[in-house]
Amino acid sequence: MSVYNDILTELGNVKLIAVSKTKPIESIMTLYDEGQRMFGENKVKEMTEKYETLPKDIEWHLIGHLQTNKVKYIAPFVNMIHAVDSLKLLFEIEKQAAACRRTIKVLLQMHIAQEETKFGLDTKELIEILEYYTTNPDLLKHIRIVGLMGMATNTDNQEMVRREFKDLKNKFLYAKQSYLVGYTDFTELSMGMSSDYKMAVEVGSTMVRIGSLLFGSR
Ligand SMILES: *Cc1c(COP(=O)(O)O)cnc(C)c1O
Repeated sequence: MSVYNDILTELGNVKLIAVSKTKPIESIMTLYDEGQRMFGENKVKEMTEKYETLPKDIEWHLIGHLQTNKVKYIAPFVNMIHAVDSLKLLFEIEKQAAACRRTIKVLLQMHIAQEETKFGLDTKELIEILEYYTTNPDLLKHIRIVGLMGMATNTDNQEMVRREFKDLKNKFLYAKQSYLVGYTDFTELSMGMSSDYKMAVEVGSTMVRIGSLLFGSR
């Protein structure tokens, strides 16, 4: 059994985003040949170059922080943008998706960690975006908000990681029940990486983003 198959077995119905940032085409193809189709990158230029070289049935997930001026490069092919953290970015994704006549799936990134450095929305900012999204459907026609994403604090303290994931899960349920009743495609909770994906799955992740465990350390 390969590490890849062990992880798949463990995940069951939870989706696996193979995070291939900094890794060469050959490493991606090895996993592709084992059946993996969802890959995650955190840099626009790197993802675009890999998209151009690799098979076209790969689903590309942009998992890192995205600057508005770079949306246009990935709008033609990106499947999901995991780290949307402002209305301004949402408007730009809408504009570029419309220009490509596509619908782009996005996740709103929540700030759940202790670390100040990590990006993400607080609850008030989340509500602001959800209110805009639900009251102006005509202005965001080419976007679908399909869930939330978050990163826990990088720590050995398992209880802390569990609390942060639970916090994110609660925010997801709150968004769904208070703002998105009837939005049947709001289903995804993107949480968990190599070091904490087991905990994330226990708490209710639907999508884990795993890099080093699959490809080796960077
Ligand atoms: C790099 C990265 C991952 C994967 O990290 P690993 O520890 O290698 O599994 C997951 N999510 C984001 C946002 C990342 O930038």
